[in-house]
Amino acid sequence: MSDAPDLAELERRAAGSTPEYGEDAHIVCDNLVRIYQTQGVEVIALQGLDLLVAEGEMVALVGASGSGKSTLLNILAGLDVPTAGVARVAGADLLDMSGRERLRFRRELVGFVWQQTARNLLPYLSAAENVELPMRFAGRGRRERRERAEYLLDLMGVADRAAARPAEMSGGEQQRAGIAVAVANQPKIVLADEPTGELDTTTGAQVFGALRRANRELGVTTVIVTHDPNVAGNVDRTVGIRDGRTSSEILRRTTRDAEGREEVVAAEYAVLDRAGRLQLPREFTAALDMRDRVRLALETDHIGVWPDRSDDDHR
Ligand code: ADP
Ligand code: MG
Repeated sequence: MSDAPDLAELERRAAGSTPEYGEDAHIVCDNLVRIYQTQGVEVIALQGLDLLVAEGEMVALVGASGSGKSTLLNILAGLDVPTAGVARVAGADLLDMSGRERLRFRRELVGFVWQQTARNLLPYLSAAENVELPMRFAGRGRRERRERAEYLLDLMGVADRAAARPAEMSGGEQQRAGIAVAVANQPKIVLADEPTGELDTTTGAQVFGALRRANRELGVTTVIVTHDPNVAGNVDRTVGIRDGRTSSEILRRTTRDAEGREEVVAAEYAVLDRAGRLQLPREFTAALDMRDRVRLALETDHIGVWPDRSDDDHR
């Protein structure tokens, strides 16, 4: 009868230990791994990725094609299940969820915006009807649906397109209506996978502006995958993904210059993961011909990294 571990005791012990990693973060990825198996071949899409996102934060994910960005976003959306590690979103544990909980999570807690404009909207419904649809599924009353659809389309700057069907709207208008659909049921988190990928720069900037307004006005935590190098100025933080790991971060801060004018300062950082791993930019290691191993030295206020010259010494 008592072979099962005493869960209450385990919980008591856990509660007494040090605070958990990212305990108060809205999105927590800790050593996240996703391995795909296709015809006996293994692809490691995420190899121990760490990421914390605070509630209400707006973060951009950038990185080369194939670096694991979509894999990460699909996991955070509850559409894909990680192989190992920790993934928690708005308190939900994405590795330990019943089918019913997963469905509820997807319906109520996250909104998703896809790159393909056509995927975000049903073609035979107007923009307003598209925004109302998820609210209908959630059982909201007609009046509330209508008012909220109107408010959201206005917030996204496409109030005048409420009666238009997707085919009658521009790509940028469709994406902005798509964001309104994504936030219709007041999700805690909005995830967007290259929402501006099919748009020109100006139209893309409008879509970013709309996501920013959704983030600020509705307080929804926002994670956007993008190729747009200009995005750093529009978000709180830009996280670089390389080979299935977070590799760099650009933080944007507003400070005042000597004359008291506000200026935005963006500083780039390398990510030091919890195991102490640091990824050196390829341009840096190539410039100094660093390979296989480097020499490290601890100085009073920094750590020095030198190329390994031991081969040269023996020549
Ligand atoms: P990104 O969005 O940054 O371009 P992805 O997350 O789509 O990268 O892909 C990361 C890696 O995982 C790539 O090598 C890709 O080929 C592989 N991958 C993604 N999805 C699958 C899948 N369903 N089956 C097998 N391999 C996949
Ligand atoms: Mg992708």
